[in-house]
Amino acid sequence: MGNVLIIGAGGVGQVVAFKCAKTPEVFDRICLASRTKEKCDAIATLLPRPVQTAQVDADNVPELVSLIKTVKPDVIINVALPYQDLHIMDACLETGVDYLDTANYEPLDEARFCYKWQWDYHERFKDKGLMALLGSGFDPGVTNVFTAWAMKNHFDEINTLDIIDCNAGDHGYPFATNFNPEINIREVTAKGRFWENGTWVETDPLYVSETFDFPEGIGPKKIYLMYHEELESLTKHIKGIQRARFFMTFSDNYLKHLEVLQNVGMTRIDPVMYQGREIVPLQFLKAVLPDPASLGPVTKGRTCIGCLVKGKKDGREKTYYIYNICDHEACYKEVKSQAISYTTGVPAMIGAMMMLTGKWRGKGVFNMEEFDPEPFMEQLNLRGLPWTETIL
Ligand code: NDP
Repeated sequence: MGNVLIIGAGGVGQVVAFKCAKTPEVFDRICLASRTKEKCDAIATLLPRPVQTAQVDADNVPELVSLIKTVKPDVIINVALPYQDLHIMDACLETGVDYLDTANYEPLDEARFCYKWQWDYHERFKDKGLMALLGSGFDPGVTNVFTAWAMKNHFDEINTLDIIDCNAGDHGYPFATNFNPEINIREVTAKGRFWENGTWVETDPLYVSETFDFPEGIGPKKIYLMYHEELESLTKHIKGIQRARFFMTFSDNYLKHLEVLQNVGMTRIDPVMYQGREIVPLQFLKAVLPDPASLGPVTKGRTCIGCLVKGKKDGREKTYYIYNICDHEACYKEVKSQAISYTTGVPAMIGAMMMLTGKWRGKGVFNMEEFDPEPFMEQLNLRGLPWTETIL
């Protein structure tokens, strides 16, 4: 049915390649391209059917255009880094190809992410009759679809939304991040931010915390308020939300190491001179930390990501919780990756499936909650990310 070009051969790229390869009825042909071709070739040897591999610098638009003209994909799944988003979107516009990603654009020299840069492409995608689907991972991604599903099936109005992300897994390292360390640390060390009564409220990084009792035996854990990109699109597209927040769990060990790294300047993103050349401390730190893709065989435990929604239905107050639980070891058994890469890669594949099968179509740039959640929710159950909903 469709020809897909996956860009980025990291932890998430591996899962996307696996899941697309396991869905031949939708993805006829697959090409996996990345900065380091050897990583694509290593992933290709693990897959259940042959895929093409290629080298590409996704910051180089002419190079991307030439690859796209050779591969002729129907859709590009961008699972490289957020810095590449606009370059890949430019190449899509030049070659007439649909686009999907899992993280919104962020400039390399400024730890600030927002949708404006990519929303500004709407008219250009629309004029060319192309579709771009933004944030098709888990959070953002499934959390947006969960919210749209809650709105469609359970509420007349949503008053408060708390997105709560728990990784109750353990990889055994004193400090490691379970997705790209540079992006992870930029996100966690940023100021917290939430939506309340039509305006954004800012907090110091990880300043607000609560305890949340996670289901299915995971139990109570401390959760920390952070800013996360889906808050920006959800408060725009789901009218009437009075308060929207995002929380994540961190172990004391992770927070202790992060504090020290910050205090000694290792999380800085501005260049410093070292032995006569410029280096960026955070990029150097990434080079010495464990590669997230290598955590698969050693990570045990589960993740639990979901949405706690309060609002009204038929004039009555209602509290609703929807979540997915994902087991690190089960993921490794299936696709040789831990659950963070899995919970991101599976929705990226499903998003591309929605586009190729025509279940989700549109001209322009879209966020996940703008489409009917039904077919996506159905696929989550079929493709390894089953969900549970409860009325509290
Ligand atoms: P990794 O660092 O493991 O992988 C990124 C890959 O992109 C690497 O293989 C890297 O190449 C490649 N890459 C980087 N720059 C370029 C470039 N200029 N041209 C071509 N390839 C490039 O990251 P993850 O797999 O952990 O994360 C991938 C994406 O998923 C990130 O954008 C992340 O923010 C997002 N994400 C989204 C989540 C969600 O729920 N929505 C959750 C987790 C992650 P090389 O190997 O040569 O360095």
